[in-house]
Amino acid sequence: MRKRNKNGETSELRIIPLGGLNEIGKNLTVLEYGDDIMIIDCGMSFPEDEMYGVDIVIPDFSYLQRNTDKIRGIVITHGHEDHIGAIPYLLRQFNVPIYGTRLTLGLIENKLKEHQLTAELINIKAGDRFSLGVFGIETIKTTHSIADAVCFAIDTPLGKIFHTGDFKVDYTPVDGVPIDMSRIAQLGQDGVLLMMADSTNAVRPGFTASESVVGMTLENIFRGAENRIIIATFSSNVHRVQRIVDNAVMFRRKVAISGRSMVNVMNLAIELGYLSVPEGVLVDINAIKNIPDDELVIITTGSQGEPMSALARIASSEHRAVQIKRGDIVILSSTPVPGNEKMVSNVVNKLFEKGAEVIYSDIADIHVSGHACQEELKLIHSLVKPKFFMPVHGEYRHLKQHAHIAESLGMNGNDIFILKNGNILSLRKEMLDVPVEPEKVIPQKVKTKEKNAPDGKAAKTAKAPRQKTRTRRMEVTTAAIAEETVPANPVMVDGLGVGDVGNIVLRDRKLLSESGLVILVAVFDMNSKQLVSGPDIVSRGFIYLRENDELIEKTRDIAEAVLLDCCRSTKSDWYNWKTRVRDAVRSYIFEKTKRSPVILPIFMEV
Ligand SMILES: [Zn+2]
Ligand SMILES: [Zn+2]
Repeated sequence: MRKRNKNGETSELRIIPLGGLNEIGKNLTVLEYGDDIMIIDCGMSFPEDEMYGVDIVIPDFSYLQRNTDKIRGIVITHGHEDHIGAIPYLLRQFNVPIYGTRLTLGLIENKLKEHQLTAELINIKAGDRFSLGVFGIETIKTTHSIADAVCFAIDTPLGKIFHTGDFKVDYTPVDGVPIDMSRIAQLGQDGVLLMMADSTNAVRPGFTASESVVGMTLENIFRGAENRIIIATFSSNVHRVQRIVDNAVMFRRKVAISGRSMVNVMNLAIELGYLSVPEGVLVDINAIKNIPDDELVIITTGSQGEPMSALARIASSEHRAVQIKRGDIVILSSTPVPGNEKMVSNVVNKLFEKGAEVIYSDIADIHVSGHACQEELKLIHSLVKPKFFMPVHGEYRHLKQHAHIAESLGMNGNDIFILKNGNILSLRKEMLDVPVEPEKVIPQKVKTKEKNAPDGKAAKTAKAPRQKTRTRRMEVTTAAIAEETVPANPVMVDGLGVGDVGNIVLRDRKLLSESGLVILVAVFDMNSKQLVSGPDIVSRGFIYLRENDELIEKTRDIAEAVLLDCCRSTKSDWYNWKTRVRDAVRSYIFEKTKRSPVILPIFMEV
C-alpha cells in the first residue's frame, strides 16, 4: 500500500527497474513520486539461445502503459542499443518526450526513421539542468565507449539520486573532455541519498585502460604495416573510429567503409561533428581495387563475428567488394561479448585460413572496455558516499560483487539493495526515534545477545546500571524493497510481432528445432462419415522420407486404422480424433526412433 501523508499526498519515492538487472541489456529504470514518473534509458537486449527465432528482447511496458498520464519524459544516458534500442517500441504505445545529447539523439533519430516514427526529441548537454515534474535533473559529463555519454544527478523531494549510466574513468579520452570528477565529488559533499552505478566490470580488479592506449597500439600496427589493414569495431565507438582515421591520415592511407551500420553511424557522426575526416580520405568500398595495398584501410562492422556482418562475409568470401589477400592485416578491435566467443573464433579461423594476419584482443591491446573496473568503482563510491546504493547494469554476479565493493568501503550491507527487474525500491521520509550521542548508546543487538548468553556472567552485565539511551524524534529517509512488484518479464520481438511470442510458441519452436515436424493430412466426407483420402504424411526436419519408406508406410497404416475407427464411432468430434491419431502416431514413432517430432494432424472436409 502506498503511504499518504496528512495532505493526502504520497511521500514515497519509488525506483522501479523494468530491465537491466540480472542481465546486461534492456536498461530501463522508472522513478516515480506522486503523480510524476520519469524514465532513465529504454534499451533492448539480444535473445538468449533458447529464444528460437526471436529478433530482439525489450522491457515490459505494461506498468508504464497503465500510468501514461504520469510520465513526464525519458532521459537517455548514451546511444548504445541496450539504452536506446526499445524506444521505437515504447513510442508505438504512447508518446513521451526524449532527452539526450546530440549524438545520442542522432542515433535515436536514425532508429525512428527506420520505424517510420517521430517523437519530441530534446537536446541536452553536460551541465544542463531541467525538470520533469517534481524531478530536477542535472546532466553531467562522463566517459564510456561511445561519445557524448552523460550521467544524471536527480533532485527528488526526498533527496538527490545519482545514476552513473555506463561509465569508465577516462582522464585522457579521445575527445579531450574527461569525466567530470569535480562535479561528482561536489555531489558527494552535498549529500547523495541513492546511487545507482554500472556493475559490468565489478568482477575485474584494477582500472580500465584509457581509450588512448588503443590509439597507441593502432599506431604501432600502422607504422609497421606494408599490406592492407582491415579493422572491425563497433560502429557506435566513434572515438575508436576517429583513432583509426587519424592513423590512416598519418600514414597516408585511404579509408573505405563496409557494413550498413558503420556507414550510417559514420555519416551521422561526421554530420554532427563528432568525427572529423579530412577531405579526400574516404573512398568508395567498390573502388578499392585501384588503391595500392599499403595505402588502404577498410573499417568494417562484425567485430563480434555476427554471421551476416561485413567481416563475417569477408571471412567466408561472400563480400562483394573485399576479398582477403595473403598478408592482409585484420584487426578485431573489441572483445567478444559473453556468448559471442564461438562466432568470433569462427571468423578468426577463417581469416587465418585465407592467409590474413589476424590481430585480436588476446594478442594486443586493440580494445579497452567502456566500463569501470573495481578501482574506478571504489573511486566513485568514495566520492559520492551515498546513503543508499543500488548496483545496476549487470548479471547477478556483477551486482553482488559491486555490493561487496561498497561494503568493503564501509557501507552498511542493510543500505545496499540488489533488486530484480520489476522490484520496487521504496524510499520514504518517516518520523523515527533516532539515538543521539552514539558513544553512550548501548546497541539493541548487544543487549539481546547478553540476555541470551548461557553463562550468567553476561546477564549480570546486562543488569548493570547503564546510561539511558537518548533519542530524538526526527525525520529520516528509509529505503526498502517493497513486497509489491510490477510486470517485468522480457517481451520478445519477432519480425513485426511484439510480445506475441510467448512460452508456448517458444516451446513449439524448441521441439520443432530439436525433432522436426510430421504432418498428417486426411480428408473426410462428414455426411457419410468416411475417410475419403489420406492420411498422407509430410515431414520437415524429422527424417528423410525417401530413405524411410517402411517407417512412413507403417505410420500411415497406424494413422489410418485410428481414423477409420474414429469414423465408425458415434461422435464426430475432430478435436478428439486429432488427439487420438496424434497419440497413436507419436508413441509408434518414439518406439521406432526415440524421437518426438511435433505431430500436426490437418483434417479437411469435402
Ligand atoms: Zn554503453
Ligand atoms: Zn549499457
